[in-house]
Amino acid sequence: MCRHLGYLGPVRSVGGVLTEGVNSLRVQSWAPKDMRGGGTINADGFGAAWWTPAGVTAYRNAMPIWSDPAVDDVLTGIESTAVLAAVRSATVGMPVERNACAPFTDQTWAFSHNGVVFGWPHAMAEIMSEVPAAEMLTLAAPTDSAALWLLLRTLLRRHDPEKALRMLTAQVLSVCERPRLNLLLSDGNALYATTLHHSLSVLRADDSVTVASEPLDDRRGWVGVDDRKFVLARPGHFDISDLD
Ligand code: GLN
Repeated sequence: MCRHLGYLGPVRSVGGVLTEGVNSLRVQSWAPKDMRGGGTINADGFGAAWWTPAGVTAYRNAMPIWSDPAVDDVLTGIESTAVLAAVRSATVGMPVERNACAPFTDQTWAFSHNGVVFGWPHAMAEIMSEVPAAEMLTLAAPTDSAALWLLLRTLLRRHDPEKALRMLTAQVLSVCERPRLNLLLSDGNALYATTLHHSLSVLRADDSVTVASEPLDDRRGWVGVDDRKFVLARPGHFDISDLD
C-alpha cells in the first residue's frame, strides 16, 4: 500500500518535507516498515502538493521518488506552510503512470489514498452513479483512488470535509467488505485523514502538525492512530474520533 504524509506549520522546503528524517517519505519508498501485508516497496511513482496564495500546485512523476533528481534539485527550492505528498505502490491491475499518482488536486484541495477497494471497478460501479457523467469523463486514471477522488469531489460540493470523508468511507463500506481506505485530504489549512485497515501516525508541535503513514523519525511524540478513526489536524493541534 502506498505511503502518504501531510504537513502544516512554519514555512519549509517541499523537498525537505519529503526527505528529512531517518524514515522520511523517500526512505519509506524503498524501506517502508509497516505495510501490513499490502505490498513491499513504493516504487510506482510519487507526488507532492503545496499551497501558495494562488492555490495548490502539484508535482508528480511515475518514476520512483529516489530516482528523480528534481526532489533535491527543484523541490528543495520551493517553500510552503502546507504540503501533502505520497509514494505509490500500484495495486495489481492498475496502471503505472503519472496521472495515477497522488496527490489528486482541484483548486484548493489535494487528496491521497493509501489502500485498495477490492473488487474494483465493479464493486464501485453502484456508488459512482452519484457522480455526474461529465465529471466521470474527467477521471484521471483507471484506478480505485482516482474514482474515490471523483466521488469525494462531488461530496465536497455539498458537505464539509469531515462529513464528505465520513460519507465516502460509509459508501465504500456498503459495497466492499474490507476496503483499505486510509484517506488524506487538505485545503492547506487543515488535514483530514481516515484509518481503515492501514497505518497512520500524527506528530504535533506547538506550531505544526504532521500526519504520516509511518513516523518520519525517532522523535518521541509520534502518536499511532488506531484503526477506523477520523483525524482532524491543524498546526499545533489534532483530534482523533471514531470513524463510524
Ligand atoms: N490502489 C491505489 C493505486 O493503485 C493505491 C495503491 C496503494 O495504496 N498501494 O494507486
